[in-house]
Amino acid sequence: MIIAIDGPAASGKGTLAQRIAGHFGYVWLDTGLLYRAVARDVFAAGADLEDAEAAARAAAALDATSLGDAALRSTAVGEAASVVAKHPAVRAALLDFQRNFARTPPGAVLDGRDIGTVICPHADVKIFVTADVEVRARRRFEEYVRRGENVTYEEVVEVIRQRDARDASRAAAPLLQAPDAVLLDTTEMDIEAAFEAALAIISHVTSGRSAPC
Ligand code: C5P
Repeated sequence: MIIAIDGPAASGKGTLAQRIAGHFGYVWLDTGLLYRAVARDVFAAGADLEDAEAAARAAAALDATSLGDAALRSTAVGEAASVVAKHPAVRAALLDFQRNFARTPPGAVLDGRDIGTVICPHADVKIFVTADVEVRARRRFEEYVRRGENVTYEEVVEVIRQRDARDASRAAAPLLQAPDAVLLDTTEMDIEAAFEAALAIISHVTSGRSAPC
């Protein structure tokens, strides 16, 4: 069983994917961490994020055991990730790792931007999670405040708008809802409601096939 969860920045897809994986006893991969780790390693090598070859080398040499690094969660690394993510060679270097992960029995939940479109086009369930940009920014801002980051709400809205625009406009695997993905708009939902809605989608999509657990 493969469940693909895509969506824009701060849509809550990671939290949702983690909850879904826990519920069904599946493994979970936050694929954004792969691009964040590549950006970190490009910085560490003293290279430029725009240097596609240097970024592809970092992607090919990526140590998947380093994805738990707390530094990967910062706003700056997220921004840098969306720069290296536009290089087709970086995306190609990360493809097999993601596809192999997706085949983990009894099931896997992957969240990102291109899971339903490129990484797992035959996923059993595809959900595209979104919410109004102001709502996403408010959630992300509150998360930053809890972590003690010094940032204003207005800055967060601006960063999210820019990141969405960059992710949606790039040529390689842009942020896009797969034609067979179910849209889940969480603007008016809290995490519990979003989780229940996602379970209902999974149940609906998989009914008539073998149950997802
Ligand atoms: O989801 P997260 O904010 O951690 O992703 C960081 C960046 O990595 C995104 O803005 C996007 O550019 C890139 N990304 C991607 N494809 C994915 C996951 C993330 O291009 N599947």
